[in-house]
Amino acid sequence: MAVLPIRLYGDSVLREKTRPIEKVDDALRQLAADMGETMYAANGIGLAAPQIGDTRRLLVYDVAQVIGDKRKNGKRMRDPGARHLEVVLNAEVIESSIEDERSEEGCLSIPGLEAPVYRSIRIKMRFMTLDGEWREESYSGLTARVLQHEIDHLDGILFVDRLPPNLREEATPHLAKVRRGEVPSALELAED
Ligand code: ZN
Repeated sequence: MAVLPIRLYGDSVLREKTRPIEKVDDALRQLAADMGETMYAANGIGLAAPQIGDTRRLLVYDVAQVIGDKRKNGKRMRDPGARHLEVVLNAEVIESSIEDERSEEGCLSIPGLEAPVYRSIRIKMRFMTLDGEWREESYSGLTARVLQHEIDHLDGILFVDRLPPNLREEATPHLAKVRRGEVPSALELAED
């Protein structure tokens, strides 16, 4: 397995719309495993393929490692022993609740920024598994939030696009720094 470089805000690959995966092979399974490794190394709870420069409709996430709502220095606490990597292919949201809630989000492609985003509290997702099976499942809470964030990535949308104008404006100087490479990467930040 390998930790892959994470593409940062300003990289055009983050704005591309991904293409569906037609067949699962060893190379794809390896890529999914590497994305998991990268996500854990960066202390993330989700990672979408464009973030490592691949434009296929693939995402990984793991909320099993998150310990309740506890936070330390603003970061959700993790239990590495409770890790359970989920690999999701060709994800589409097919239903989302009108009821939404606002909560802080961050992104491995925008290190050092957290801001509150409204998301539906429940979604239904259609997706393919690594075994090539199609499924429909419902999700709520943090899982629903992570999936909405990652599926946005597959459509070239970043969480800062969903901020109200005042918060977006507040974030602009930081985004410019990320674009100029003046902010430590999520992998560097995770090392301490
Ligand atoms: Zn993200």
